[in-house]
Amino acid sequence: MEVLVKSNKILHVLEVKNLWVETSKFPILRDINFKSYKGKIKVIIGESGAGKSTLGFFLAGILKNELKARGKVLLDGMEVFPPLSKEWKGKKAGIIFQDPYSFFDPRERIFNSIKEGLLYHFHLKEKEAEEITESWLTRVKFPEKYRRNFPHQLSGGMLQRASIASVLSLNPEIVIADEPTSALDPPLRRGITEIFREVARERYIIYITHFIDEALEIGDDFLVLYGGMVMEETDINFIHPYSKLLTSSILKKGEPIKPSVGYSPHPSNLPPGCPFMERCELKSKECKKIPPLTRHGKTILRCWNVP
Ligand code: SF4
Repeated sequence: MEVLVKSNKILHVLEVKNLWVETSKFPILRDINFKSYKGKIKVIIGESGAGKSTLGFFLAGILKNELKARGKVLLDGMEVFPPLSKEWKGKKAGIIFQDPYSFFDPRERIFNSIKEGLLYHFHLKEKEAEEITESWLTRVKFPEKYRRNFPHQLSGGMLQRASIASVLSLNPEIVIADEPTSALDPPLRRGITEIFREVARERYIIYITHFIDEALEIGDDFLVLYGGMVMEETDINFIHPYSKLLTSSILKKGEPIKPSVGYSPHPSNLPPGCPFMERCELKSKECKKIPPLTRHGKTILRCWNVP
């Protein structure tokens, strides 16, 4: 087993290399490369159509059948894709969706739904599954008196806490949060992000959001996608022209991304060359060719004209 070692310490890394995800007609993700470290929250940001959710679905092992993926994924130095194992979905990687109402069976009480998930995935006695369910609901601060309620009897914020408890109860190493706060009012969002901050120490967290203020608050480092490509992978010091446009788009707290200049292209209709060219103030003749990913200090980015 190849394990990355730095200063005599094992580095726990989830590494995606040259990942493409394609329909039969066009690519949705093009040559995605990034690393995520255990204990850190990797935030993926970008506008609609950038490929964020497709990347999340791929990592969770729930890509639609009509989409084809190629590339490599390594976890702690071991190749885990291609292909993802049968146990990957749920047990190794869990995903929390935007809409918590679609997560649960509406005919089943919340507590029972979580317990049944545990009984399905693990050889547990009923009592053990109940204890694990209780402990996770407590950990996400889900009020005791509502634990036997049906989904329709709960608020979006409570249901999202329950869906997080359900995913985490299976103890996945990788947790993908696909815009987990987008259906919630601003006061409820903070409670959800605090849960991720708390559980991040033990896992790989891939946090997808279109709220820039939330991204900057929760993220340890960032992957900026545009037109299905990585534009920048960085800590907080954004230097790519698109990242700068995104981060300058914060109008007020809780606003989704609304860059003021132009629109993000659909992946089926990307311009030739750098996909950001039509909106970029720094464009030059070179930009008619797709720039490679290059390292600039701690940042990796795709741009011909960043000094
Ligand atoms: S490669 Fe050119 S068009 Fe693309 S971001 Fe850089 S300067 Fe702008």
